[in-house]
Amino acid sequence: MATKVYDVVVVGSGAGGATAAYVLVNQGLEVMHLEAGRMLQPGKDFRTHLRPWDLPFRGQGKPGDYDGLWKINEYTDHLYTNPRKEKYDSIDKFHWTRLRAVGGRTNTWGRSCFRHGTMDFKTQSMQGFGEDWPIGYNDIAPYYDRVERLVGIAGNRDNYFNMPDGIYSGPPHPPRCGELFLKAHAAKAGVPVLHERTAALSANHDGRPKCHYCGECGRGCDVGARFSTLDGIIPKLRGKRNYTLRTNSAVHEVLTGENGRCTGVSFFDSVTGQPGEVRAKAVVLAASTVESVRIMLNSTSRIHPKGLGNGSGLLGHYVMDSMKAGGVSAILPVMRNRTPINEDGAGGSHMTIPRFNYKRKNNYYGGYFLLGGTGFGSGAGSGSGVSGWGPDLKKQIRANNGASISLRGYGERLPEYSNYFEIDPGNKDRFGIPQVRFQTAPSDNDRKMMEDMYNWIDEIFRACGAEVMPYTRMIEPMGDATHEAGAARMGTDPHKSVLNPYCQSHEVKNLFVTDGSCFVSMPGTHGITTLMMSLSWRASEYLAHKMKKGELA
Ligand SMILES: Cc1cc2nc3c(=O)[nH]c(=O)nc-3n(C[C@H](O)[C@H](O)[C@H](O)COP(=O)(O)OP(=O)(O)OC[C@H]3O[C@@H](n4cnc5c(N)ncnc54)[C@H](O)[C@@H]3O)c2cc1C
Ligand code: SF4
Repeated sequence: MATKVYDVVVVGSGAGGATAAYVLVNQGLEVMHLEAGRMLQPGKDFRTHLRPWDLPFRGQGKPGDYDGLWKINEYTDHLYTNPRKEKYDSIDKFHWTRLRAVGGRTNTWGRSCFRHGTMDFKTQSMQGFGEDWPIGYNDIAPYYDRVERLVGIAGNRDNYFNMPDGIYSGPPHPPRCGELFLKAHAAKAGVPVLHERTAALSANHDGRPKCHYCGECGRGCDVGARFSTLDGIIPKLRGKRNYTLRTNSAVHEVLTGENGRCTGVSFFDSVTGQPGEVRAKAVVLAASTVESVRIMLNSTSRIHPKGLGNGSGLLGHYVMDSMKAGGVSAILPVMRNRTPINEDGAGGSHMTIPRFNYKRKNNYYGGYFLLGGTGFGSGAGSGSGVSGWGPDLKKQIRANNGASISLRGYGERLPEYSNYFEIDPGNKDRFGIPQVRFQTAPSDNDRKMMEDMYNWIDEIFRACGAEVMPYTRMIEPMGDATHEAGAARMGTDPHKSVLNPYCQSHEVKNLFVTDGSCFVSMPGTHGITTLMMSLSWRASEYLAHKMKKGELA
């Protein structure tokens, strides 16, 4: 029997891959969707409502079990890939977060969805550093519209400089007491505080219920109130005649023919370990920035000796992530001894400090946002910053409950050739597929920006009259913010980029990469995922158009 040839094989079902599959299927193409992980049942698989006392290590997990990846704990360790079990060299340089399941990391993401603005796409010509994207904000704005309508975002139209308003399915979530306090006092230091724009619903949307304010989105939302591709896209595709989802299928290579074009992919069944192949007229890689590029680097052949579409030698280079500094905690004395109220809200902050350094003279390039935390959590807090024993210690912890506040900076990371990852031939995963190793380090620009972040945090806390806890100024390893992007960047010059402005390989015209790999810059604005989905949507429409015209053969 002749092997079936699909129109397109899409690899990965997270933000980039599910969006591509959605658009391609709706364009009438026959899609095989391969996902390395399993299907999740939100009501069963997410430990959203477990309490610390339900778990042997009170939710923290056994000390040392997760090698410092803060997202992995006893609520999520069955979802994320444990770096101790699937090892890669260089964890001290790069915190690589992997979640192999349908929906990928959209199951547990932070949900911030601010649009990138005109200046962010033109960093060289408008801000004097990095490289301009080959597209501008106006090219992507209509796709942001489509994605935001699909995702459902709670937000406010603030008309803020270089951070365009989007399409919101409901109002922003109401600020907590400490957030209102922060807004009022930060204003005295000239620092703006805006409503979060978050993919946690404040009104029912597209068959999904609004958030019931349990505050635990990081564990996965059991009712689908926060957007994930598991809840928001895959159900729209399943059952369609031109869509097939194959879970537990870990792709390791893109197959190519004599002319160097893609003919399909090969994979291992993650349960049985059996190898398999899918034939297709075009391949869309969206397995996440590092995994997609790893697949390309592992796909060597006579025509592509350095990896698929890697004639420029740039594959893996210019990898970026938000430059994430360590947090600073403080106590607001005026909030001490408050009567506890329910301030759980939607997981994470309801207000945020956007980039505000535009009109200042800075000794570094780019900008950053500050993410805050306040309010009564589900416990009384760790008691950090207080000392003593017995009743007196308890009294102090109770007094501080609901009075704590924290700020942490996330900054623009400049694209540097010297930040890269490569195949580590001596280290293979459980299927025998060569792993990657990272070569990344903070730059002088990162350090100067970090100092500015901390100086402003000090300034804001002074304006709040806060008692700041001792802290160390530091930069987290790259990857810790989980905004990795840029290792197969787009451009018009095949010597300076891997993909064209439609996420299509310069060298292999039936290969598209529609996750964060194509990013040219990593702005100091919170949210890369809706941009990634918008780019994927645009690329997929282009792919369908070209395929229908017979221009990918
Ligand atoms: C805790 C946390 C907080 C975050 N906060 C935010 C935020 O506030 N705002 C924001 O914009 N972003 C945030 N992010 C980032 C966001 O989750 C990612 O940008 C987004 O999920 C990336 O989409 P992706 O499709 O590239 O990768 P993923 O969502 O990771 O999906 C990749 C998929 O590919 C599959 N896959 C991997 N390898 C293979 C293979 N070899 N074969 C087949 N399938 C494969 C995986 O199983 C996975 O399902 C956060 C992430 C985390 C974890
Ligand atoms: S806070 Fe809202 S969005 Fe988050 S897990 Fe709870 S119900 Fe879901």
